[in-house]
Amino acid sequence: MMLTEQRRQIVAFGKKMLSSGLTTGSGGNLSIFDPQTGLVAISPSGVPYEDVQTADIVIVDRNGKRVEGELKPSSELNFHLALYAARPEIRSVVHTHSVYATTMACLRWEIPAVHYLVAYSGDKVPLADYATFGTAELAANVVAGIGNYNAVLLANHGLITVGSDLKSAFDAAEEIELVARIYYQARSIGEPVLVTAEQMSAVMDKFGSYGQQEQKK
Ligand code: 13P
Ligand code: ZN
Repeated sequence: MMLTEQRRQIVAFGKKMLSSGLTTGSGGNLSIFDPQTGLVAISPSGVPYEDVQTADIVIVDRNGKRVEGELKPSSELNFHLALYAARPEIRSVVHTHSVYATTMACLRWEIPAVHYLVAYSGDKVPLADYATFGTAELAANVVAGIGNYNAVLLANHGLITVGSDLKSAFDAAEEIELVARIYYQARSIGEPVLVTAEQMSAVMDKFGSYGQQEQKK
């Protein structure tokens, strides 16, 4: 079986997507791009995360041609491939229907710098125009909407995050959901004071050195 480690990670993070409340049933999808082979491992379409096995992960090439796997790849293969093409530095894409982020997407609001953790995306979370799920039109809207950010809201649909590996894309999805919830709650009882552009750029500088990265090397 090809890309066994990537398959294992997609199965594990799919279950995490459920247990952390970022999605329900088979909503959302995950993929990893492997630069060595030029192949993409992606979750299968419509299979509940608790049932997904490593053999169910689908391997496709960068044109979307299935290279290994019996099941149909995620219906959102178009935007996963479009993101890897547009952003050569990214190695993973996570898509969820997490409730607070999706609430913002249904209002067609961007998420501003209401809390410094929005830095998981950039200085805000931008919004991509609506198109039917699974279409090439949605993929084009996603690429235009995300620009150089690491997250984008999909109008009336959900959230996409990208990262240098599956863990960072997943962490971004979790943190952006938290920021969306905080924004919702703050706006429910008042007018939140936003972090300024200058304050956000200080946060983004510090993010590069946050945590235990020296020890990991
Ligand atoms: P898939 O099960 O085909 O990945 O679709 C879920 C989804 O979120 C569509 O946008
Ligand atoms: Zn979706």
